[in-house]
Amino acid sequence: MSGTLTSPPIAVGCSTNVVERNERPILRERGQREVFCGLTGIIWLHRKMQDAFFLVVGSRTCAHLLQSAAGVMIFAEPRFATAIIEERDLAGMADCQDELDRVVDQLLERRPDIKTLFLVGSCPSEVIKMDLAKAAQRLGREHAGTVRILNYSGSGIETTFTEGEDACLASLVPEMPAESADAQPSLLMVGSLPDIVEDQFLRLFEELGIKNVGVLPARKACDLPAVGPNTHFLLAQPFLGETSRALEDRSAIRLEALFPFGAEGTTAWLKAAAEAFGVDEMHFNSVVAKPRERAKRAIEHSRAQLEGKRISFLPDSQLEVPLARFLGNELGMEPLEVGTPYLHRGLLSHELNALPQSVQLSEGQHVDKQLDRVREARPDLTVCGLGLANPLESEGLSTKWAIELVFSPIHGFEQAGDLAELFARPLRRRDVLEV
Ligand code: SF4
Repeated sequence: MSGTLTSPPIAVGCSTNVVERNERPILRERGQREVFCGLTGIIWLHRKMQDAFFLVVGSRTCAHLLQSAAGVMIFAEPRFATAIIEERDLAGMADCQDELDRVVDQLLERRPDIKTLFLVGSCPSEVIKMDLAKAAQRLGREHAGTVRILNYSGSGIETTFTEGEDACLASLVPEMPAESADAQPSLLMVGSLPDIVEDQFLRLFEELGIKNVGVLPARKACDLPAVGPNTHFLLAQPFLGETSRALEDRSAIRLEALFPFGAEGTTAWLKAAAEAFGVDEMHFNSVVAKPRERAKRAIEHSRAQLEGKRISFLPDSQLEVPLARFLGNELGMEPLEVGTPYLHRGLLSHELNALPQSVQLSEGQHVDKQLDRVREARPDLTVCGLGLANPLESEGLSTKWAIELVFSPIHGFEQAGDLAELFARPLRRRDVLEV
């Protein structure tokens, strides 16, 4: 390890009650993948948790990935960096640990504002040889009382794109305090959402009369809500399988619903909470009626562009299934193949039941075979990773970058119109170019 801290250039700084009605055939693919690794999650997680710092223990490649993905952002103080590990034999690994300790000590001394430090593993073999869990425990003991030190893996071998967030949130769950024996029922909203979207949902829960609502992750990572058998949780993201399991291991109860995309998905998601908390149906309807109507009207702006159009998803963000459901059911699109890196059947049971039976589901990736199928079907729109978009565009196929869907506010009633527009835009551009 060089012992240097690299940072962005500008910065000075499965549930058991799975609904098995949906026993459609699923194509399982194994082969070359074209997906970002889990380190990418740091880009949105560090914006969310403002007292947290992500120290990637990795290679120059990891540092480059982070720097180029986050290069457009300017911060007074960066909240992520890479401690670069150089090639070492096993005999040199003890020095690596010492070097990591030194980098962490130096960082924490310089940045007393850091309250949670994540040591993030990556895939170089030197990093795999290091025991980051032990390092986090050792350093955590040393800095106890001032900073919490946790670890998770963002390695491209173990994680794809959005799984980094899952691994990060799962590492927080054991740190959550236990709720008291006489705790009132509480609701936990799980998944990193832009603050503005989180506030909209919190306002709606308040209007519904649901009290004791917590979020994971909180804006301050050190503000961890309590958890226990009186905690009901709603996943805001469909890729949080490990986090969901960790919460269930702490006796929290997962509320099953569609995910909050579009007017229908958001209504169903809120309804799951309302039913668990005994909210009167008339009251529920009166609270959601207006924002739901607004969402429907906003979605209608894109209908002319999208209705009847065929769409394929290549596996990338794990948002594919709920988004295909939204586009199919609320905008009249025809999803052909919906590919996803991992299909969490338990978390997606409602979504799968709402997808038309004609949809071909695929799990995993064999990029060449999938591209062949896209070329044969020639959908009007293909949602895919950055690296696949250009070749498809050059063959006259319209594409949408999956990464844009992860970085844009797309959850909830107020964002439903923008979500539809994200899919309508490339088709409109194509129409303009063809005129
Ligand atoms: S974790 Fe692995 S896949 Fe991700 S940037 Fe580092 S070396 Fe590349």
